[in-house]
Amino acid sequence: MRLMVIGAHAGDAEVTCGGIIAKYSKRDRAIIVHMTLGEKGHFKLSAEEYGLQKRSEAEKAAKILGAEVVFLPYKDAELPTDSEVKFRLCDLIREHKPDVLVTHWKGSIHRDHRSTYLNVRDAVFYAALPAVKREKSPFRVKALYYAENWEDPYGFKPQVYVDISEEFEVWREAASVYAFARGETGFPYIEYYTCLFRLRGIESGFKYAQAFMVPEAQRKVRMKELP
Ligand SMILES: [Zn+2]
Repeated sequence: MRLMVIGAHAGDAEVTCGGIIAKYSKRDRAIIVHMTLGEKGHFKLSAEEYGLQKRSEAEKAAKILGAEVVFLPYKDAELPTDSEVKFRLCDLIREHKPDVLVTHWKGSIHRDHRSTYLNVRDAVFYAALPAVKREKSPFRVKALYYAENWEDPYGFKPQVYVDISEEFEVWREAASVYAFARGETGFPYIEYYTCLFRLRGIESGFKYAQAFMVPEAQRKVRMKELP
């Protein structure tokens, strides 16, 4: 099973999903896609300086998780929601063929996170559609999940729990590469997600777990008759 995680800003994917990224890297392949570098998120460094730092942090984090990393050229806080972005993501999906795709939930405080949700939703649809003629042939993602993220809280419900106990330390190591995750820009990300993964673990009977939400359509249950 191959995994692709698409995050709005470098760090979103690894900080929220590093555990499952490490899990899938070990088993098959994991691809991290950063829509933007998140280069405008530092109060002291310029966007140029912070962008360079974020890129280097992203490369290090991906290496620790054993994942491949793709940087898209969009600007922080200016990610468009349009056909150009959707077809670019469609091409990436057709190229890498992820069985499982994880991205942001739409109920976010960040416009780039909401935009990523909308772009990814349509890209998954385009990628599967034979009538959408692109260089690569159609590919259907088997399952789409939305990651739990403190910045995407509105309407988020934990529906699927994945055990990340074995991958917890490598998640921590990878997340710690990012200055923002260490708390440099104010929010104590690593501390927050350590508590969250433990909380989800307690709820699901694992030491550490990550929770996801699934699209409505994926929740349909097929049965021949009522039990
Ligand atoms: Zn973000």
